[in-house]
Amino acid sequence: MPLNACELEIDLFCRGLRVPPHVPLDGVRGISRTRAGLGSGLEIVIPTHSWLKREIWMNAPVVEEFAQHSPYVLDWSGDGGPKEDGGPKEVRPTEVRPTEVRPTEVRPTGHGYSIVDRRNQTRYPVRLPSEPAWYRQFTSRDVPMSRIGVLQGTYLGIYINPVCAFWNYDPPLNCRFCTTGANVGCAESSSKTIEDVVETCHAARDLSGVTFVHFNGGFQGTRGLRTAEPYVRAVKENVGLLVGVQLTPEKDFTGYDRLIDLGVDHFSFCFEFMNPDWFARICPGKARMLGQSLYFDAMDYCASRLPRGAVSGEIIAGLEPIESTLAAIERVASVGAFPTVCVFRPTVGSDMAEWPPPDYEDMRRVLQAVYDACRRHRVPIGLAPNIEVSLVVNPDDAALLAPVSAGTLFYEAWRRVLRVAARPVFARRMRPRARSGARV
Ligand code: SF4
Repeated sequence: MPLNACELEIDLFCRGLRVPPHVPLDGVRGISRTRAGLGSGLEIVIPTHSWLKREIWMNAPVVEEFAQHSPYVLDWSGDGGPKEDGGPKEVRPTEVRPTEVRPTEVRPTGHGYSIVDRRNQTRYPVRLPSEPAWYRQFTSRDVPMSRIGVLQGTYLGIYINPVCAFWNYDPPLNCRFCTTGANVGCAESSSKTIEDVVETCHAARDLSGVTFVHFNGGFQGTRGLRTAEPYVRAVKENVGLLVGVQLTPEKDFTGYDRLIDLGVDHFSFCFEFMNPDWFARICPGKARMLGQSLYFDAMDYCASRLPRGAVSGEIIAGLEPIESTLAAIERVASVGAFPTVCVFRPTVGSDMAEWPPPDYEDMRRVLQAVYDACRRHRVPIGLAPNIEVSLVVNPDDAALLAPVSAGTLFYEAWRRVLRVAARPVFARRMRPRARSGARV
């Protein structure tokens, strides 16, 4: 029996994807490792053939060791193109950023691809999104925009701060799954000016239809929220995107108030684990410098100040006991926030590169619980326009895992009504606020 699109997404997160060397990847998004450790794969889009959701975006693991043994193999059958033959496994990351704008991209729609499950020869058609033309443009101070921001699914991710301070301790206190310390300053610019960020946001909005920019920056002591303020202000005034902020929590909650006043639309809190022992073991910096309870307190505070569904709690599934993960999901949804679940990826270069990936059945159970918790707690997921996050299984992706019941149908009808009702609200929030017409 073929998997549905969300089941395929989960299984690809758990098993990875092989990319034979003859499968052409020209013009599709390169393999980028510029985020906090989980974005090392190939961006793919899976059609769902379901009324619940049109398509699913994901970042499939391809460079990790476990992916080299995956039963899933990428194939391309475009006109005149090579056919998949199960040959040697090799991946060619896009490591060079060319300096000129390419007027046209090869295979801009990324069609003709499919994923073949070698265990039973089931073929799943997929699309590979093309590399955005603005990746090859420069900001006014001559920085490639690809070193400022990166598309992760359909949204723009920008790391705004210097490298997370957990990496500066001796011995380092970085989260063990993370590779940010190896990326910032290498694969991406170590400093980003307001102008860099605003110009990149303009380009991503105009050329890729981006509606949401997500600022993150790891641990910056008590200065993180303050540092984010000018970026938020500039984007809200000049570009008008929806803006999310993801930083380690701070004890002074007035920092959240200021950002909300500036127009922040979303906060996310990465507490990663519910089990305190796993939290301390995998996230030593977070445990020593902040404490797990501060994450919950800050999340609860922001959830009380913003509309339901505007805040998220991020967790990693596949390491701590599954019952703890299920408890974390319940904890997040109980305050009207939505749980975002990263399926653990033993990313190359991280301290956990040798760890095994999670089990599919466990992850299916976890993701089913995410949707179920959102439904029971009436968390309005998937309302904002055009936000598909490729690094996680989106809560509304998991609608495809839910058994058909009166409760599910009612929740989906409710979400539909809210989506329509929320359109003018989001349209207003995406309008630039600058009055003078001045542009940074
Ligand atoms: S807080 Fe942890 S996950 Fe986030 S950037 Fe720092 S080390 Fe990485």
